[in-house]
Amino acid sequence: MNPLQETPGHCHEPVVTLSNVTFSYENKNVIQDLNFQVLQRDFVGLVGRNGAGKTTLLRMIVGLLKPTSGEVRLFGQPHSSFNGWDRIGYVPQKNAFNPLFPATVREVVLSGLYGRKKLFKRITRQDHQKCADALEVMGIEDLQDRRIGQLSGGQQQRVFLARALINNPELLILDEPTVGIDAETQEGFFRLIRHMHQHHAITFLMVSHDIDMLEDYIGTGPVETSGKLKFYVKHTHDPQNCAETSLTHSLKGLREQIEAW
Ligand code: ADP
Repeated sequence: MNPLQETPGHCHEPVVTLSNVTFSYENKNVIQDLNFQVLQRDFVGLVGRNGAGKTTLLRMIVGLLKPTSGEVRLFGQPHSSFNGWDRIGYVPQKNAFNPLFPATVREVVLSGLYGRKKLFKRITRQDHQKCADALEVMGIEDLQDRRIGQLSGGQQQRVFLARALINNPELLILDEPTVGIDAETQEGFFRLIRHMHQHHAITFLMVSHDIDMLEDYIGTGPVETSGKLKFYVKHTHDPQNCAETSLTHSLKGLREQIEAW
């Protein structure tokens, strides 16, 4: 038997579990009693009109907000005892980024390595190598000394994706990743993430306003609706890729896709 072959059920482990999750800002109830599970190798598209609570939900999942009630589990662990933050890559909404922020591309990508409590950790030679790999994967090595605010929307998007990929995450969370970039770049971006979903061991949770793109990839109609939130889900099951733990080489394999982008 191929040693990479998964044990049965391996691809169906829960990655995000939301149990009776409710969230309110002061007295404003945004998410009410939400139950939903993201499984390993799912591609979940989250849709809902402005103000539906999509960003709030993502921020809760990555631990930036605490649910008012209910429970969020990551990889089967409750938030309170979860310590695998480097297994998760998060690309926040573009408008959350201050264009005057003076960091270089390299600094932004490296910052993806500093999980909680590691802010003052020394940057090691391995860290620099991981950064170089992520920059190479995204085809942005030549931009590494540029200030992030000087780049085009599409280039910035690659930088934030490189930042999210630097730890070879098992879960990628993307909040409206194509807002503000041109149609051609958007199309290339979607090609890339479909490829990543199909051929690399990554689970996706993506907020998108682009229902056509989601339906084109996932099929028509959400599988689950909770309040104003709609969840589209496509599961990919590829036993060999599923068991892959180190993604560095597979990330490098993405280069072909990026070049087409
Ligand atoms: P979406 O991402 O679906 O557009 P959000 O999660 O950003 O929705 O916001 C959901 C609701 O919560 C909106 O009505 C928004 O105005 C409100 N909201 C978002 N952030 C805050 C905040 N920090 N304080 C108070 N209300 C907020």
